[in-house]
Amino acid sequence: MNEKSTRRVLLGTLGAGTLGATAGCLDSLSDDGDDEDGESDPNGDDEPEQSDEDDEPDEEAEEIPDIDGGAVVFTYDDGPMQDYEQAFPVHQEFDAPASAGIVTEWVGREDFDDNDWMDVEHLEELAEAGWEINSHTTAHTALGEFELVEDVEPDDTRVYPEERNHGFHLEYDIEVTDGDSSVVRTVVDSGQDDVGGYLEFDEPVGESFAAGETVERYPEELMHEFLGDSKAQLEEWGFEVDTLLAPYDVCDEWTIEFAREYYDGIANVNPGSMVNERESFDPFDTNRDYFIEFTDPLDIQEQLDEVAAQNAIGIVGAHTFKDEVDEEGIREMLEWIEERDLTVVTLTDAFRAVAAESE
Ligand SMILES: [Zn+2]
Repeated sequence: MNEKSTRRVLLGTLGAGTLGATAGCLDSLSDDGDDEDGESDPNGDDEPEQSDEDDEPDEEAEEIPDIDGGAVVFTYDDGPMQDYEQAFPVHQEFDAPASAGIVTEWVGREDFDDNDWMDVEHLEELAEAGWEINSHTTAHTALGEFELVEDVEPDDTRVYPEERNHGFHLEYDIEVTDGDSSVVRTVVDSGQDDVGGYLEFDEPVGESFAAGETVERYPEELMHEFLGDSKAQLEEWGFEVDTLLAPYDVCDEWTIEFAREYYDGIANVNPGSMVNERESFDPFDTNRDYFIEFTDPLDIQEQLDEVAAQNAIGIVGAHTFKDEVDEEGIREMLEWIEERDLTVVTLTDAFRAVAAESE
């Protein structure tokens, strides 16, 4: 975690209700972000040290799981305390691992966005039980490009992207580019006016850009920070991190270009279906669906039938801090999986198992 990122302001409730079908993750951040950096030492009760290299099950990790008959990967979003308190015990009942997508700046935070967030010691316990830790970036920023839907004049300080995700985190640089020209400005505000959803910059754009031919995105340096620094921080804490969970389910070519430098795959490239056919399974073209929120139980069971029938890989996710995502719902899902004789594996193990088959 660097100093810059702690100075950045997380915007209030601007995101609420604007994400529609891609409301993959937290869509309202209420913290003023001025004093917490999530780096507080875990005040471990009986754990002597953070360093856990000795108790990592390295030998087991080398074994490639047998996923014949179909597999399911669970990826939990954002690292809330409910992953540890509600999801983890139920997964233990079924001896089924999961993956936890961690936002490194949120680790160990208390009463942030109306919730508590797992600390390093909780993650250690999950990892020791066979869970995988995914990066979910340093600050939960949307990694994709967004096309501008209004023309830009040189004296404009506002741009209007198709989605306003980059307005949820202020004080970051944003690049506006049509492939020929490129301008970098700092986003200082975001909202909705008569024209539409906008990002407001610290100074005028200074050039003209055409709607439909221009995108706004985080510049390369920030992409490396979000993707590289989060991995480095998690590894410093002692975790092996090979996979990414993309915030807000936003994942495009710009995202993948940078993610490939750090990760073996991404959990949620295409939201909306859990089914990944084994023959064409591509770690950078994955399908993921939610299994409690945003979904219908019958549809989920039908998709599990499909996974079993096709000997496929199902990738599912959930936000355990949501009321409807409770122990009962998770247990029910694991029972459905058990009834179909599907194997629950981590994302990395699913990638490895499929890669081994094609060798
Ligand atoms: Zn998220």
